[in-house]
Amino acid sequence: MPVLKLAEKTFATRVPVLIIGAGACGTIAALAANERGAEVLILERDAKPTGNTSLSGGQIPAAGTKLQRAAGLLDNTPELLYQDILAKSHGECDHGIARHIADEAKNTVEWLVDRYQLPLSCVLDFQYPGHSRPHMHASPSRFGAELHTVLIAAVEKEGIPIATQAHVTDLYADAQGRILGVRVKRPDGAAEEIGCDVLILACNGFGGNKEMLKKHIPAAVDLFYEGHVGNQGDAISWGEALGASVRDSGSFQGHGAVCSPHGMHLGWATVTEGGFHVNQDGRRFSNENAGYSEQALKVHRQSGNVAWAIWDERCERIANRQHSHIQANESGAIRRFDAIAPMAKAIGCGAKALEQTIAEVAAVARGWTKDAFERNFGGKPVLQPSYYLSKIMGALTHTQGGLEIDREARVLRKDGVPFPNLFAGGGAARGLSGPADWGYLSGSGLMMATNTGRLAGEAAAAQVKKG
Ligand SMILES: Cc1cc2nc3c(=O)[nH]c(=O)nc-3n(C[C@H](O)[C@H](O)[C@H](O)COP(=O)(O)OP(=O)(O)OC[C@H]3O[C@@H](n4cnc5c(N)ncnc54)[C@H](O)[C@@H]3O)c2cc1C
Repeated sequence: MPVLKLAEKTFATRVPVLIIGAGACGTIAALAANERGAEVLILERDAKPTGNTSLSGGQIPAAGTKLQRAAGLLDNTPELLYQDILAKSHGECDHGIARHIADEAKNTVEWLVDRYQLPLSCVLDFQYPGHSRPHMHASPSRFGAELHTVLIAAVEKEGIPIATQAHVTDLYADAQGRILGVRVKRPDGAAEEIGCDVLILACNGFGGNKEMLKKHIPAAVDLFYEGHVGNQGDAISWGEALGASVRDSGSFQGHGAVCSPHGMHLGWATVTEGGFHVNQDGRRFSNENAGYSEQALKVHRQSGNVAWAIWDERCERIANRQHSHIQANESGAIRRFDAIAPMAKAIGCGAKALEQTIAEVAAVARGWTKDAFERNFGGKPVLQPSYYLSKIMGALTHTQGGLEIDREARVLRKDGVPFPNLFAGGGAARGLSGPADWGYLSGSGLMMATNTGRLAGEAAAAQVKKG
């Protein structure tokens, strides 16, 4: 992914605002720039844009929205969301960016709902770990493809062109780091060159690139990858070549309950509502509800790199509102048991061991004993038969390190000075999770993608207008 340094270059085709990637970040950046009168072109490597956005649960955190007020949630504020981001990342993210994103999230969600009819409503039936209030907004089926389809349709309705099957391979930049344009490879091998006034990198992180994972996150190399294969870390490679500041490269979001071998994840209500995970011996091994991200490696470290999730009918009703969980049911990854002995047989552990684990969890949930893993079951009802069981594995969902940006999503050099005309957002930018897997507050991925997309689009349009 070279950056070709030239003093100047003439391009046959030229656009003011060029965007690489048609996921949530790229489409939202395009809509924002277009609203401010800029001419925009999106370049997307796939024939049909999907990216992580279409694979996601489509749940976006924001605080103090009018949707929340209408739903009777009156005490949520951007300050609480900001504090939740800081607490989950142990204060190791960029505080200024976290504050700005927490403040802007409300405006972005309301804008997308009002102006582009994004079908969002509040998720009130359960709360993710680390959310002090129900911050999530989701589409009806809690599936990102539902949101992505609306975003792509909005882009098309606005007449913003998306060039698909346009794989950007190289950037052209001058000695000062001003982006002159890009080189695009077409499926038939033909190359095109397109010039631009500003460039927005919306092409996500490096979850699909084994070599980059080996270098930056060796612990995640063997995890099942549940993200989009096209996320090859191109933005980060270009940034490095230009001398950009790249931070938290070892950080990632994992998922600790991906059905094995089926590959789709269980709704996390299977945990938040009182369910738990056991290993091959029928024993628990962690505080499952610390977060689904950090649970990935904990599951992966169990015998055979697998574990089993156990929950009950009440948890199932809530989890089964999520698209990925419905898919898990449809694919036969979830089994129901009326008694413990056959469930133990399905796991391959002794019935007595599993009975004991279930009794221990019940005692902790009732508040009779303290949990050995310091989990607080938060007053959730004790699990009741029938039980639900799924064999699970730990997965890598997306990387969290990336290009350091300012409040307008301008990419920063190592000395903190922004490049003249380069923006980045979504998974291409440094996330809000700090340096490791434990810092991911649920929903930070789309919160970054939607907000930095809007901020980058607005700032890019303003820059183009100024000339
Ligand atoms: C299974 C799963 C569930 C998730 N659930 C949630 C959730 O509920 N809530 C949440 O907040 N986050 C969730 N996430 C994370 C979230 O999906 C991402 O953080 C977010 O979608 C990132 O958006 P993006 O626009 O940055 O990247 P993407 O949506 O991945 O888009 C990047 C686009 O860039 C294109 N591209 C890459 N390289 C090039 C190139 N060189 N040239 C041209 N095009 C290129 C790709 O093809 C892709 O279309 C989930 C992720 C997964 C995988």
